[in-house]
Amino acid sequence: MNCKDCKSVLLDLLLDPGAPSSAAVRTHVESCAECNRELKSLEATFALLDTWQAPEPSPYFDQKLAVRLREEQAMAPAGWFERLKSRLLFNTGRQFRPALAGALALILIVGGGTFADVTGFLHPKPQTSAAVQDLQILDKNDQALQTMDQLLQDDGAVEDTTATPSS
Ligand SMILES: [Zn+2]
Repeated sequence: MNCKDCKSVLLDLLLDPGAPSSAAVRTHVESCAECNRELKSLEATFALLDTWQAPEPSPYFDQKLAVRLREEQAMAPAGWFERLKSRLLFNTGRQFRPALAGALALILIVGGGTFADVTGFLHPKPQTSAAVQDLQILDKNDQALQTMDQLLQDDGAVEDTTATPSS
């Protein structure tokens, strides 16, 4: 047995000295100064740990905890804001998923509806027939022509007025 193997099983020798595999380790430790020092160091650490006292929980800890839990359960339900806060603090988000999906669907409907002009579908504009539209276009063209004629006539009149003082 080499030192590397020995050091990996030194702890087993300490914790279970009577194990059959410990015999080989013990013979190596007795013949090897370095492994012997390692074993002595481990033994010192374990001895120190044995003197250390873990702090005990206060007496009746479990009973007091149970009483407080029962008190909280028996208390009147908190207001809706407290309940909402505790839900937000302690939930996993699972119960909000349907609400979230609904909100996303609503956004999609509103956004897509605006894009596809659903508002126009809900409030249809008064429909005019093709003939009426043609007449309206002709009427507008006629008005534009009349306006142009008036402008040309006005220009002629202005020229006439400017020409009159000289004559
Ligand atoms: Zn060794």
